[in-house]
Amino acid sequence: MARYRGAVCRLCRREEQKLFLKGERCYSEKCGITRRAYAPGQHGQGGMRRKTSEYGIQIRAKQKAKRYYGILEKQFYHYYEMAARRPGLTGENLLRFLEARLDNVVYRLGWASSRAEARQLILHNHFMVNGKKVNIPSYLMSEGDTVALKDNSRKKEKFKMVLEQNSARPTPEWMTADREACVATIERPPNRDEIDLEVEETLIVELYSK
Ligand code: SF4
Repeated sequence: MARYRGAVCRLCRREEQKLFLKGERCYSEKCGITRRAYAPGQHGQGGMRRKTSEYGIQIRAKQKAKRYYGILEKQFYHYYEMAARRPGLTGENLLRFLEARLDNVVYRLGWASSRAEARQLILHNHFMVNGKKVNIPSYLMSEGDTVALKDNSRKKEKFKMVLEQNSARPTPEWMTADREACVATIERPPNRDEIDLEVEETLIVELYSK
């Protein structure tokens, strides 16, 4: 599974926004963007930044969404193509596909501290979807699907800690969850206002439809 392996705090600093890629650290004083609130690189602190073109703004919107969900270009474009084929607004359809990924669902439920951690835990076979083992982070969840943390995994110290750390995170409105049993069901696709990504998704659609 291809993924970005560089320093993730740089990605937030480049987008000038917290993308919450590092779990607990993102909420602490150690957050990279709290400590260094300027873009990375040689010209990050100075007034050397160029005026951003319309194309540049569209690129930044796409990069921000890709980085937020931890997805590389090829797969991201694939979601865009699927979204464009669906009825409705392509940008919103795109975000719904990204939210439907198993790694995102596990993260949203507070069963992992970041999407990167969720991916790792999924690869290590800790989750079941509709009663069957699924170890594919990009698995797309549909309405009515159930996801569960395996009983054995739930008893592990690692998970006890993760669940405790994320216990304050509310279950998204579009899912129902038994937090004690660590079982959740997708009730419906999320509405746009239930997706907290601060990006204008229409810019991504404009970019790809050129
Ligand atoms: Fe981004 Fe988290 Fe790093 Fe802060 S700690 S810069 S939110 S990845």
